[in-house]
Amino acid sequence: MKKILIILIVLFSLSSSASAENVITDQYVTEEGIQINSYSTNWQGQKLKDIHDELISNTHGEELSSLKTINLYPGANGDGKEEGMYHFSIRKANLFSGGTKLQDGSTIDLYNMDSKKSVDEIARVLAHEYGHHFTIYYMAKHDSKYFTDWKESGYYQTRLGKEFPLIAEDESNGHQWNLAEIAAEDYVQLYGSPKSKGAVEVYDILERFQKGLLDNKLEYSSLSYNITPQENMEIPLALEIPAVRDYWEKLSEVSSDARAYSKPELEFDSATKLGDGYSQYLFKWSDSRDASGVEASYYTLVAYSSDLKNYTPIKLVGADEENEAVIGSVVQNTSRSRRYYSDGIPGGGYNKLKLIAVGKNGEAVASSLYEVNYENNSMTEFKSNYASDSIPAVENLTKDESIFTRVSYVVSEIFYIIYSIYEMIFLHISINQ
Ligand SMILES: [Zn+2]
Repeated sequence: MKKILIILIVLFSLSSSASAENVITDQYVTEEGIQINSYSTNWQGQKLKDIHDELISNTHGEELSSLKTINLYPGANGDGKEEGMYHFSIRKANLFSGGTKLQDGSTIDLYNMDSKKSVDEIARVLAHEYGHHFTIYYMAKHDSKYFTDWKESGYYQTRLGKEFPLIAEDESNGHQWNLAEIAAEDYVQLYGSPKSKGAVEVYDILERFQKGLLDNKLEYSSLSYNITPQENMEIPLALEIPAVRDYWEKLSEVSSDARAYSKPELEFDSATKLGDGYSQYLFKWSDSRDASGVEASYYTLVAYSSDLKNYTPIKLVGADEENEAVIGSVVQNTSRSRRYYSDGIPGGGYNKLKLIAVGKNGEAVASSLYEVNYENNSMTEFKSNYASDSIPAVENLTKDESIFTRVSYVVSEIFYIIYSIYEMIFLHISINQ
């Protein structure tokens, strides 16, 4: 009871702050009856229809009709970390039947819309927020233990909760360990729109040198699907546990067009000494392919800090390119000097690597996590700590909607923040004698 009270207070304070400061600038009611309210002068007219088009390009089923409002706010909310929020209410049947139902009237709030030009920039957040709507709708309908005794839910079992003890029913272990967030990210991977899975270009130190981009400050955010296909990269991706896709398809009766791709294998190819203590390290990998032999569309090599808390992308590689990336330094030789440029990865604490492959329909599959030892030019695979792929039974809900209590929730988002400013280019000039 105490917990419910706290959640309601949070909901109240958030909605009051949003309405007090913002004035509606345009409104569009979609053919499904969803009201898109803009409080941003940047989002009016046709652009509200673009929001609708993007919304419905996320695969959906009957749950769409329970979404009633999308609010577009010009600036930040609260502490400014959220890019989106999902508000919903669950009706609970009497305590003995355990039935739950998502109330009609759910709301998605999108923030910082003044700084966003097109739907491309909000597609990932919108897909994630709609992912909350989709997953909560069907869990309330068919896996109601999620709301009453979450560790007994089919979803907790499907997502191998026992093997990942940090998984929680709230954000006590971090936003990324909240089971509701993991579910929303499953949705993005299985049902998200093409735009929500867009890739950003990432160049390694060698490409940046060759393209004259060494001076460019590059920023990456966790919105980039090719870098962060799901917020929590310490647990298997959705398609890496076959039961996850089966669970959502059985629960929703909405089929996913995602296919399984093979796990790519990364290898430490070689190290080249450039002089003056600088080295260049070459990494290569095997193809990732689906069952009919079609290769993944692109790969992104990502470096992680030892504690996995920070990460930075190394290189994006298309299927038609060589499966290789460079870490370390490059050298520019002139008759008078040698200039070294380094990415700061070796020695910068980013000693773990993972390769992420993305397929034709946005399917994401990751390699194992590897630890690189730049001192002795070796790399060790971290053995995966999960094995189970058992498919739990989908629970049938007994419909008893005669006695309901109403509980309101708000799912807050602190996930979508810029995590990486990649400007670790160090210059060292060595004058030739
Ligand atoms: Zn979320």
